[in-house]
Amino acid sequence: MITISPGHWRIGSGAKDIIDEVGQARRVVDRVAQLLTMHNVPTTKIEDNVSQSQSENLRYLIRQHNATKRKVDVSIHFNASNGRMQKGIGTEVLYYDALSLATTMSKGISDASGLKNRGAKQRKELTFLRDTKMPAILIEVCFVNSMEDVKCYEQHFEAICTEIASVLAKFVGFAWNDDGRKLAFSTIALTEKVDDLLKDNEWKRQVIDKGIEMDAFSPVWRTRQVNDLDFLGLCAMLAKKII
Ligand SMILES: [Zn+2]
Repeated sequence: MITISPGHWRIGSGAKDIIDEVGQARRVVDRVAQLLTMHNVPTTKIEDNVSQSQSENLRYLIRQHNATKRKVDVSIHFNASNGRMQKGIGTEVLYYDALSLATTMSKGISDASGLKNRGAKQRKELTFLRDTKMPAILIEVCFVNSMEDVKCYEQHFEAICTEIASVLAKFVGFAWNDDGRKLAFSTIALTEKVDDLLKDNEWKRQVIDKGIEMDAFSPVWRTRQVNDLDFLGLCAMLAKKII
């Protein structure tokens, strides 16, 4: 459904200032791909660890992207301008003809992070956008030489990755359930039984109290919002403590 890759090839082969473009692009791609997979959206991640030059890298990425089954091609980059600066510059999304996806993505990242929205920009000459066969966008998350941008990015890393993942999921026709991860057990019987158990909030509270009492997990779980998957994880921790 989605094929995503970080721009450039080895660490240091892209822009670098306060942060390194390639290292951060890989970090974003890893997290976005992980979030999509957790939400059952088929995703292929491509990372170039073989090329020796920018032109080799582009050929490699385009060949790999075009060899996968997907509805959208996504490239993650970080931007740079001349000289280190304090003020924020912002996020932007480049596109070939996927204007509406690029516009939604840029605004989404901006809303999620506080990065200034520089919007969608058509760049028909960019090899990645031109030669990948599916609708393609290239996300310039923020500027590596802006103190304000890097601060926003670090503070809101998770929100940015979640926004990128959810916009992409919706674009390829998947509902994005904010409560997260579908619990897909391999039998209907088990799914129904667990569904029933998870409706019993009083019992869940008692299980969490028991786990804390037995030192199976931290007391913060008493005050934290616990989703269904968290709860099953806590049950596993409690079972581990018992056996
Ligand atoms: Zn780049």
